[in-house]
Amino acid sequence: MKKNLICVACPLGCPIDVEIENGEVVSVTGNTCKRGDAYARTEITNPMRSLTTSVKIEGGVHPVVPVKSASPVPKGKMFDCMEEINKAVVKAPVKIGDVIIENICGLGVDIVATNCDPGK
Ligand code: SF4
Repeated sequence: MKKNLICVACPLGCPIDVEIENGEVVSVTGNTCKRGDAYARTEITNPMRSLTTSVKIEGGVHPVVPVKSASPVPKGKMFDCMEEINKAVVKAPVKIGDVIIENICGLGVDIVATNCDPGK
């Protein structure tokens, strides 16, 4: 089986062809550097995504505070992460970089605030 990807590891966006046999990557072509090879292999075997969303805030100027995952999480765990995030309520004040949820879903990734809210 062949899969075509666009590498997102840098703004060049090289088109990459990946040959897959029995769920294993047998060849990667089209990449112009090693990062493209690594991206393609990860994308096929364990795709990762950065998570950007918001969390409810109590006593804040705004009803929610924007957050992101401190590093990418497995694509297959995005819904589990969103369930945990949707249940969370943080208390104002919040500073940029504050850890809102530690080790989300046991993935070893923290959810951190990307904006501040000094509270009312
Ligand atoms: S293969 Fe290398 S040069 Fe091409 S988009 Fe990916 S990181 Fe950039």
